[in-house]
Amino acid sequence: MTKISKNNNQSGFTPSLEGRVGEGLFPEERVGERLPFSRRNFIRTTGLTAVAGLTGIETLFAAMKKKTTKNSGKGLVLRFVPYDLQLRHTFTIANSSRKSTPDVLTSLEFEGVTGYGEASMPPYLGESVVTATKFLSMLNLSQFNDPFQMEDILRHVDSVMPGNCAAKAAVDIALHDLVGKIMGQPWYKIWGFDPADTPNTSFTIGIDTPEVVRQKVAEATPYRILKVKLGQKTDREMIETIRSVTDVPLCVDVNQGWTDKQMALDMIHWLKEKGVVFVEQPMSKTAIDDMAWLTAHSPLPTVADEAVQRLPDVMKANGVYSGINIKLMKCTGMREAHQMLTLAKSMGMKVMIGCMTETSCAVSAAAQLSPKTDWADLDGNLLISNDPYKGVQVVNGKVTLIDQPGVGINMIQAVFKEK
Ligand code: MG
Repeated sequence: MTKISKNNNQSGFTPSLEGRVGEGLFPEERVGERLPFSRRNFIRTTGLTAVAGLTGIETLFAAMKKKTTKNSGKGLVLRFVPYDLQLRHTFTIANSSRKSTPDVLTSLEFEGVTGYGEASMPPYLGESVVTATKFLSMLNLSQFNDPFQMEDILRHVDSVMPGNCAAKAAVDIALHDLVGKIMGQPWYKIWGFDPADTPNTSFTIGIDTPEVVRQKVAEATPYRILKVKLGQKTDREMIETIRSVTDVPLCVDVNQGWTDKQMALDMIHWLKEKGVVFVEQPMSKTAIDDMAWLTAHSPLPTVADEAVQRLPDVMKANGVYSGINIKLMKCTGMREAHQMLTLAKSMGMKVMIGCMTETSCAVSAAAQLSPKTDWADLDGNLLISNDPYKGVQVVNGKVTLIDQPGVGINMIQAVFKEK
């Protein structure tokens, strides 16, 4: 049985956490449901948050861990299933084109509570259903009897093999969803972020014929910023086509497509006149000196995407780019993404939270970080036609978080076979 009691010997509430993790903090509350306001609910929302704020999340976890060592001994149960994401439009960027994206959906169960995750694997990143399922098969998560040991669990996952970042993210997201559900809180709250601070999200317009581009822009009416894929000879035509039908702010993603720094600078000056607000990965990720020069002279912020994958890359990008694009599939998930956000902000860099073509699961997970980012590009779930989850919403172009535990999703189409 789990309970939270008031310590009458002290001036404030001191939560005393007892019992098994699997029962949840509030046995009378089913995961995902909201309680009416009550004294117990008040203690939950103020006492726990206060402790987290004063002593830090890690200390809170450690305190809970001490009380959660008794359980069935079954450990964490990982399941995974391949799931091909069908794209609404054939998607073309500077160097590839495709109609679907391979994906592996995961679930992580502990004592009756289940968290969900996924690995989305655009082919150019080097992972596949074969590599992801092989990696996930190698994991022995049943050795972990406490999901709150996130540091140890995720360090173990990261140490099994190098690379496999999307597969690692599939475990990380499922673990965050699980722990958030056990705590009864969404991660933006656990991290202390204000959901009112979420940015507008951009909607991506892929490289295509003027007719199709105009059609895509027409579909993107609710969005307050559009992300335009550049990096081909038709760059100016793309921008002119979009400007012929809308005057919303634009950002551009060149996907390393420009090779000459002076030409890149000339383009950026022209793009600024066309209402572009920043330029993502204009040149090769290896062109470090040219990029540092371009950023120093550019009238618009430059954002590293391909050049920044994991935490150590953030330090290298400082002084070379104005900001970074964090994606869960690149950086192994929410835990490292949060660390990258904190590090980049501490160095005065801009931060964008992005995604691949993904279900609402990974997009909702990434959205938990969005209140502290400058820009969001969280449209991956909107680009697919077979999303099995419902989660974060875009309302009037703005990322809109929901007050639901974990990463904030509901499964609307069964994808895991019954046990
Ligand atoms: Mg990009």
